[in-house]
Amino acid sequence: PESEKRRILIGMSNTGGGHKASAEAIKAAFQETYGDKYEITIVDLWKEHTPVPFNAMPDTYSFLVRNAILWRITYQFTNPKLVHVPYLSAVSAFVSRHVSQALDSYNPDLVVSVHPLMQHIPIKVLRDRIKSGASKPINFATVVTDFTTCHNTWFCPGATRCFVPTEYCRDLAISNEMDPRQIIMHGLPIRPAFSRRLPPKPRLRRQLGMAPALPAVLLVGGGEGMGALEETVAQLDSRLGDKCQVVVICGRNQKLQERLRARPAGAGHPLLHVRGFVDNIHEWMGACDAIITKAGPGTIAEALIAGLPILLNGNVPCQEEGNIPYVVDNRVGAFETRPDRIAAIMDSWLLKGGRHWFEDMGKRAKALGRPEAVYRIVDDLAALTEEPYFDFGPATAALLGAEGAKKRK
Ligand code: UDP
Repeated sequence: PESEKRRILIGMSNTGGGHKASAEAIKAAFQETYGDKYEITIVDLWKEHTPVPFNAMPDTYSFLVRNAILWRITYQFTNPKLVHVPYLSAVSAFVSRHVSQALDSYNPDLVVSVHPLMQHIPIKVLRDRIKSGASKPINFATVVTDFTTCHNTWFCPGATRCFVPTEYCRDLAISNEMDPRQIIMHGLPIRPAFSRRLPPKPRLRRQLGMAPALPAVLLVGGGEGMGALEETVAQLDSRLGDKCQVVVICGRNQKLQERLRARPAGAGHPLLHVRGFVDNIHEWMGACDAIITKAGPGTIAEALIAGLPILLNGNVPCQEEGNIPYVVDNRVGAFETRPDRIAAIMDSWLLKGGRHWFEDMGKRAKALGRPEAVYRIVDDLAALTEEPYFDFGPATAALLGAEGAKKRK
């Protein structure tokens, strides 16, 4: 019956495409595993539930991240706890009331954050509400959606659980004073569609309008279509000509899509497939032989599941930097920013290289992929809705200055 439904509130923010994709992956895996036993609501707490100017946070990020030096300064400056804790504490004075109203209206049985700026303030608001009797005692979980290097605001000791994708993140959580009992490592939550069996490659390619037997490269630049994609297509064109086909997923970058569609086609040029924001990236990954992408955590984790060798062509400064050695050291790909050299690498991978060596790279990728992670995370979250409220609060209280915290058991 309706009254037995458990409500889970997932807080995300549209900074890049990855947080939303992770939130949707969790929601889809909940539905697949538990039907409608859980009601999952995904909400951009900053944009929808804080006042001006805080609600402009996603747009501010979009601006900063396109101006690398500004982003680097903002990120590094706010990374130490000594800076971001007092800062978030000050911000909470302006937004707490709104966040509390939001919690009132959703009335969740569990709050889950998939965003680095959704720990300290929601946890403090939640604790205050529980203490004052405004809310029943409920747990809070963080699902980290960065892969390796990530901002310290992901880790707030007041969270009941923190799900991390890699050892690297686990170590970061511990260095941020989280208790090992709070930290769980399953992998990044990737949409269930990536775990499903796809038709054999030639059939899949025909379904997608591709040539069934021509080597295929997939080019993506995250949800926003970032990076030198157009120049890379030009270099692939001059180096590989019509010996390959190239799929470019432009995401929300409309201008890129228009310019690519205007490129010369036909004999001597690669067969070019240009798409905007697609919902079936898992099919395009399954249909291609290699991927060229910026070092986005979501795309890397998806490409690993698909068993695709990965050529990283750039990264968002700071939080994506550690993803490059992750790919290179695990020997599942390479890092190269110059489009002419990228084309040369693709030539060696797809046309000239030893087939075994290239296939081994794909096998290693597949072995590193964690398609089951999202299901494990969802099972743990489901259990967390039943688990008695555990107050890790004293640590948060010490951080954010709340008083009268219970002693940690
Ligand atoms: N994505 C998608 N359709 C597109 C472009 C991107 O579904 O047309 C998804 C992609 O599969 C991945 C996410 O958007 O899950 C991008 O996340 P990532 O962490 O790679 O980069 P971000 O955009 O967050 O910087």
